[in-house]
Amino acid sequence: MGRGTLVDGRLGSKLAAMILHPCPDRELVLDLDWVMISRSAIDSLREAVGERNCVTEPEQLRVYECDGLTSFRLTPAVVVLPSTTAEVVEVVKIARAHGLPLVPRGSGTGLSGGALPVPGCVLVGLARMKRILEIDLDNGWMRVEPGVINLEVSRRLSPDGYYYAPDPSSQSVCSIGGNVAENSGGAHCLKYGFTVNHVLGARVVLADGSVLDLGGPVLDTPGYDLTGALVGSEGTLGIVTEVVLRILRKPEATRTFFATFPSTDEAGHAVSRIIAAGIVPAAIEMMDRLAIVAIKAATGVDWPDVGAALLMDVDGPLAEVEHTAQEAVRIAREAGALLVRLPKDEAERQTMWKGRKSAFAAVGRISPNYMVQDGVIPRSVIAQVLREIEGLAARAGLRIANVFHAGDGNLHPLVLYDARIHGQEELAEKVGGEILRACIRAGGSITGEHGVGADKAPYMGELFSEDDLATMALLRCSFDPEGRMNPGKIFPTPRLCGDRPGKYTPHPLEQSGEAGRG
Ligand SMILES: Cc1cc2nc3c(=O)[nH]c(=O)nc-3n(C[C@H](O)[C@H](O)[C@H](O)COP(=O)(O)OP(=O)(O)OC[C@H]3O[C@@H](n4cnc5c(N)ncnc54)[C@H](O)[C@@H]3O)c2cc1C
Repeated sequence: MGRGTLVDGRLGSKLAAMILHPCPDRELVLDLDWVMISRSAIDSLREAVGERNCVTEPEQLRVYECDGLTSFRLTPAVVVLPSTTAEVVEVVKIARAHGLPLVPRGSGTGLSGGALPVPGCVLVGLARMKRILEIDLDNGWMRVEPGVINLEVSRRLSPDGYYYAPDPSSQSVCSIGGNVAENSGGAHCLKYGFTVNHVLGARVVLADGSVLDLGGPVLDTPGYDLTGALVGSEGTLGIVTEVVLRILRKPEATRTFFATFPSTDEAGHAVSRIIAAGIVPAAIEMMDRLAIVAIKAATGVDWPDVGAALLMDVDGPLAEVEHTAQEAVRIAREAGALLVRLPKDEAERQTMWKGRKSAFAAVGRISPNYMVQDGVIPRSVIAQVLREIEGLAARAGLRIANVFHAGDGNLHPLVLYDARIHGQEELAEKVGGEILRACIRAGGSITGEHGVGADKAPYMGELFSEDDLATMALLRCSFDPEGRMNPGKIFPTPRLCGDRPGKYTPHPLEQSGEAGRG
């Protein structure tokens, strides 16, 4: 069986039982031979969230069978759509009483299978919790529910001259809860930091139904930084029901430039040199030839056909910005820029950024299928690793487009394939894995912002030692000793009692061909 062929029913339920126990050296807490949701559990869930907000119809459940990584699919047993923290608490308590796993979900745009249902799970959709609860401009924070859409936060703040900095390219659809769980990044995270730098506190419902308040509006709180641990925990520590966000004043000025280069070599060198010169651009994004072709086809931007392009924002006080932008342009030219274009007005600037931000979708214009990879490397080896990726593509006979946050060294190779051609999806998958290995060899990591999810769990053992993974598992267990929250994500093996961290080892059911994850 290929990737994403986990199945529902009794076999799926067995898998659920196996991935429910993440704690090393722990007694089995729940003896789940199989997880089948009972009529009484569904009745209780209906009562907790209301009939309309409890989805059980098979065709409606299919809406929730995957996130943005559509090659992994599994239908949840039931979907609940709570609207308050109290309702989430009720749902968690019911799941616990009936021995059911829980999978939180925001907008479902994740690209690593983080919100992928597990067999027999209660999928908790947070999309109805979308109120902005409090805004304190004087002290620079706001309190929101997790279903609030990222872009909506800045829209609400804009008339007062404030904004929320992390800006994933999916910001018009992804939720703050999903951003917190994935520690999402975006083009402007180079200067301003990732989600973890902008979350001051959170309210979380733990697996036993208790409600925990972490951090808060004041800038620092004593004790362990549990808010930091929560951000990026991919729904494995609890369900976030409120978030306190740091908000910033909009910069006085922004200068944008678009520069083209003969190849990604010169563009990569330009990125390293600009940052080495002490300039911290708000954003510096790279697109290679194939990505430019796709963006042009999808958006109609009038960019030339070149080997690579950079799109860069410098922001801050006007006087400083004028100087740094000029300096960055000078360095780009020295590094081999063919053309440097400054937008003539805000409308043209927006068009340039629209081109960049729609790049993933644009690739759909030039290939029936593609897989987005997400790895990190040191900035100084961008050109070298891109050449390695080019070699991988050539050897596999596949095309790879690159469009990424160059300043952070956060690569997003898009592996193009045609699922109708037998074996191409598996080949693309394999190439994606080799890209991650190239990132690890270069001193980088297997994810910059899309999370580990179900997709990259098998690679965690190649990045971390057994001790590292065991320590992470202990943290998880202290929040969720039964492993009820989003089981099967992040950790490399189904972490049964006595199961050891380390390299991914396929489960016997995968080996026998009864279930597969590709
Ligand atoms: C076209 C496109 C472009 C993208 N660009 C970027 C980018 O530039 N930068 C970037 O970082 N990502 C990007 N992404 C990935 C994705 O949008 C982000 O990971 C985003 O944060 C996911 O948010 P979501 O609301 O869709 O979460 P989901 O996909 O629903 O869930 C993501 C994870 O969060 C958990 N979760 C969701 N809500 C909660 C909650 N309330 N409590 C606890 N856990 C929760 C889920 O269990 C899951 O593990 C892109 C995706 C697409 C499709």
